Amino acid sequence: MRNKDNSFYEELSFIKQLALRYSNKVLFNFKKKKLRNGFYIVNYHHICNHKFPKNNDIPSIYTEIDVFKKHIKFYKENFEIVSLKEGLKILKSNLSTKKKYLSITFDDTLSSFLIAIKHMKKFSIKPTIFLNSDPLILKKPLFNHKNLLTYEFWLKNKNYNISTLRSWYQKIINSNENVYQNKTFHKFILTKYLNKKNIKILIKKKLIDLGSHTSDHSVLNNKSYDQQYILIAKSHKELESFFNQKIQFFSFPKGKLKNCIF
Ligand SMILES: [Zn+2]
Repeated sequence: MRNKDNSFYEELSFIKQLALRYSNKVLFNFKKKKLRNGFYIVNYHHICNHKFPKNNDIPSIYTEIDVFKKHIKFYKENFEIVSLKEGLKILKSNLSTKKKYLSITFDDTLSSFLIAIKHMKKFSIKPTIFLNSDPLILKKPLFNHKNLLTYEFWLKNKNYNISTLRSWYQKIINSNENVYQNKTFHKFILTKYLNKKNIKILIKKKLIDLGSHTSDHSVLNNKSYDQQYILIAKSHKELESFFNQKIQFFSFPKGKLKNCIF
């Protein structure tokens, strides 16, 4: 079984050793302390221009755009910002002991990345985006965004009941056909994800590097080898052929990997 695709797993184990990433909130709070030299990687998901209610139903994977701009300012003042590719080279050559480097990454394929890139472009920052193949290829939203995205729809359409919206969202995930309960809702959810065209343009303009992030964002701990293979390697290869290019990076959903296969 393990010979299925050795080079792919060798690459993954390399990344796993090196790419320890910080939640942007954690790193931003470091500002009062003295930051050590090294290579830092920060991780974002969703950028928004409104506030979310502070409740446990909605995962805290969002960053308001004004806060994001403050973070960029802080990174500019305290680090040399490099792409993930450059950062890994720096790490290998031990240059990171001499200076503070930082790379910016985005997970989960959300289209709000387009708001963020507009700002990063001004500073020639090249982030890496870690893509999930289900929203891109199958047009299926991710289960972990259910409460976040239904809330965003509800903000603009308050006549709907939020639990009804959540059940519609679940139906879109479960359905193998393009069956939808409500066209407006379905359309809205699909626009919340990056599409092939968006990404092709970003690649062509050399604004991003690509990584993969599994097909449907399942957490990988305690999954069998075969299940992990489908979620990681199959999805990774599908993304490579979808964009007709090699994809060098992979990130674990929620950073979790127990009983690991490497
Ligand atoms: Zn994720």
